[in-house]
Amino acid sequence: MADNEDNGPPKKLRRLATEKPSFGFEMVEVRVGEDRVGEDSDDGEAKTFHVHKDLLTQHSDFFRAAFTGDWKERADGVIRLPEDEVEAFEQFYWFVYTGSLFTIREGDHGVGEDNHPTDKEFGRLAAAWALGNKLQCTPFKDALTDGLIAKGLKERSWPYGIYAAINLTAARSAGIRRFLIDLAALTWSENYFAEMEFTTTEFLHDLVLALAKARAHGVSKSKPWENAGCRYHEHGEDKQCYKKVFG
Ligand SMILES: [Zn+2]
Repeated sequence: MADNEDNGPPKKLRRLATEKPSFGFEMVEVRVGEDRVGEDSDDGEAKTFHVHKDLLTQHSDFFRAAFTGDWKERADGVIRLPEDEVEAFEQFYWFVYTGSLFTIREGDHGVGEDNHPTDKEFGRLAAAWALGNKLQCTPFKDALTDGLIAKGLKERSWPYGIYAAINLTAARSAGIRRFLIDLAALTWSENYFAEMEFTTTEFLHDLVLALAKARAHGVSKSKPWENAGCRYHEHGEDKQCYKKVFG
């Protein structure tokens, strides 16, 4: 029994003092969702989150600006995000503390119109990504892009809905947008193109460019999102990948 490693303490139980979490002790309040006075509905209820300030400013350019600039949001020490979803902020909250995405729920799989299978997790990932984009939280966005790709690969399914949820808000350089362009250029059938409602000409333009590139290089069989590494990440050279930050 003495040889059994499971009986000993975890390998990293004792650590250097310099390895301790960097989020300090100061807490701030973030109020998410709309306060509906006089309405007796749980739907869309607002929620207050108490979060370590350093954690917010470390990961989110939006919060860094909110706490350093003269923003109205901080007049009473509370940052208000009335237009955002509580559920998406919960994803952000848990991510900055743990580096994980808690997006899988029982009952996510269902059947929609025309007997098409539906899966609510895709929508949850996309909504969280849109919030991460607003909060300018690159690690969260990169993790969500990876999560979306991992889910699609595992389930061999890429619902149309992702395009509607992402491409309106994403900047041209956004990793997830680059992935969606590649996915469309390299896998869509003629029917997909015929049925898709293109909501932005920019997206359509980039898709045509990707198709031309694929044709020129003869890469129609390649799937660059498999083992993509940092290909669709946005951290660039000067910031660490979320996988290292939370590793
Ligand atoms: Zn990366």
